[in-house]
Amino acid sequence: MTTRKDWDTYFLDMAYMASTRSRCNRRHVGAVLVQGKKLLGAAYNGAPMGVPDCSEAGCMLVEEYELLNLEGAEQVLKKQRCIRTIHAEQNLLLFTDPKDRENSVVYVTDQPCWTCSNMLANSGVIEIVYHRPYNKDSAKVTALMEQKGIIFRSLESYVPPSGTSDPIKDGAE
Ligand SMILES: [Zn+2]
Ligand SMILES: [Zn+2]
Repeated sequence: MTTRKDWDTYFLDMAYMASTRSRCNRRHVGAVLVQGKKLLGAAYNGAPMGVPDCSEAGCMLVEEYELLNLEGAEQVLKKQRCIRTIHAEQNLLLFTDPKDRENSVVYVTDQPCWTCSNMLANSGVIEIVYHRPYNKDSAKVTALMEQKGIIFRSLESYVPPSGTSDPIKDGAE
């Protein structure tokens, strides 16, 4: 007999299922909206409807420089990021009802970036559960959630359903 899935696993599995719809070959992100254990929305990162997506037009890459402090030595890291897509969390906010977001929980495959976190913080969501870390924005995002009193937690021991989690390409964001 298999054991019954707990709610966290159940909803994070659904976020990973949503992420498989993404056509960005650099990063597949999925997010679901849950209110009182009810699933009220699902979204993934993608280009606006009716516009060529990353699989058709290629990723739209921008280069960014990140300042790292490694054992006291500052290092500049060059990174590429795809800006063609609307992030999963932003699509989730575009396609869900404000009423449904009051006191809701968002499950998302990846720790939200700064912009998504800022939007989620103003959306009625009271809890965010994520799986994969996103170190670049982690410190300021965690501070924001603390200020807003939003529960912000990662499920580190979670294992995504097989076939739903693509390894993130090196340096991809
Ligand atoms: Zn892309
Ligand atoms: Zn984002």
